[in-house]
Amino acid sequence: MTTLIKNGTVVTAADMTVADVLVDGERIQAVGTGLAETGTGAGADTVIDAAGRYVMPGGIDVHTHMELPFGGTFASDDFATGTAAAAWGGTTTIVDFAVQGYGESLAQGLDAWLAKAEPKSHIDFGLHLIVREINEPILREMDTMIDRGVPSFKLFMAYPGVFMLDDASIFRAMSRTADNGGLIMLHAENGGAIDVLVQRYLAEGKTAPVNHGLTRPSSMEGEATHRAIALAELAGVPVYIVHLSSREALNAVREGRDRGVPAYAETCPQYLYLSLDDLARPGFEGAKFVCSPPLRPADHQADLWRGLITDDLQVVSTDHCPFDYKDQKILGKDDFSAIPNGLPGVEDRYTLLWDGGVAAGHITPTRFVELIATAPARMFGLHPRKGTLAPGADADIVVFNPDAERTLSASTHHMRVDYSCYEGRKVRGLPEVVMQRGRVLVQDGKFLGQPGAGQFLPRGRFSPGG
Ligand SMILES: [Zn+2]
Repeated sequence: MTTLIKNGTVVTAADMTVADVLVDGERIQAVGTGLAETGTGAGADTVIDAAGRYVMPGGIDVHTHMELPFGGTFASDDFATGTAAAAWGGTTTIVDFAVQGYGESLAQGLDAWLAKAEPKSHIDFGLHLIVREINEPILREMDTMIDRGVPSFKLFMAYPGVFMLDDASIFRAMSRTADNGGLIMLHAENGGAIDVLVQRYLAEGKTAPVNHGLTRPSSMEGEATHRAIALAELAGVPVYIVHLSSREALNAVREGRDRGVPAYAETCPQYLYLSLDDLARPGFEGAKFVCSPPLRPADHQADLWRGLITDDLQVVSTDHCPFDYKDQKILGKDDFSAIPNGLPGVEDRYTLLWDGGVAAGHITPTRFVELIATAPARMFGLHPRKGTLAPGADADIVVFNPDAERTLSASTHHMRVDYSCYEGRKVRGLPEVVMQRGRVLVQDGKFLGQPGAGQFLPRGRFSPGG
């Protein structure tokens, strides 16, 4: 089976040119001009005319939580619904987080997540491991996980009693990755101080959703980010800060990078487009916007955009972790600290970053591709198979119509959640054709994917340069 995608503007992280893309089976065979005429692409089984469209790599979202257990409930998207929604939105690879249970091995966590994901996933997926306990056997097991294609480990500086590790544990884990080549990813918020504030606010009867934001000030994200980078510098290893939300945390990353520390960070669309004002919406509606770190005052957004332009932020992921407003977020009706933390986003990332980034003039199309696909592929050991359009790479391709105007809404999205954080927001851009390994998943507004067709991707070691 061959497919010729012709006359589109082909965008990679390196350049942008009008060209044809020839797909043979699961791989890209050629990218070049006039492939139909010169013979290589003549007689292709299928031809897609991409004139006036951008032809770009499928998105790679390295931070999702399908059916994550949290706060006595589960994220509402499973690996079937969540990956179908991702494909609708132009994302063809996710890296989700397997969770180590207390008293369990890392392998048990990994196997449990593989069992959930493999029969259901519509798109290719990798896994990171959330490590909740550090001891000698677990440190040794990190090496084994790397051999199984899971070279990245997320540790928490927040959520005492649930996920939080102390500095000694974090430093021991980092020291292990100095030997085994793994990567430590950190949720950087000072969980101890935040917990004291939360208890104080609740005791004062401040129970509304906005207090979630007020009890997790950005100074405590800045502090933890600075500490994470200092620990990584001491261990002599790279470090990756997940879901960076604030100016203070960005400044910590920039200072580290400026003195030569290999510190990396991602941000998420919610921190670029939403703010503390959304958490403060009247009644209980703010609960729709409860995630951690919390949404910040709107003046942080310009700093984050600048970070994306200057490469102090290298990746845009979603932290997709949806909970229904009506029967899940409601658990915290009288206590903001009981609102399940997380937002839906996996379907909207590609278009949101295009609309607010490229169409609005903040970033170029090549930088867009780098942020949404190429850099995540390189850092998380998926390059050169994923994240670019080049001969030999997987044919994970989006044909993107930059002129299509549409309105984001829960009534039209495909994520299994009863609200949209972007309800009513008008955006420019639509992934019209979405292809994974040569198979069309979305075309002409129809979904053609298959649960279980996505493959587990064993990943290579962290490599910022490719
Ligand atoms: Zn997360």
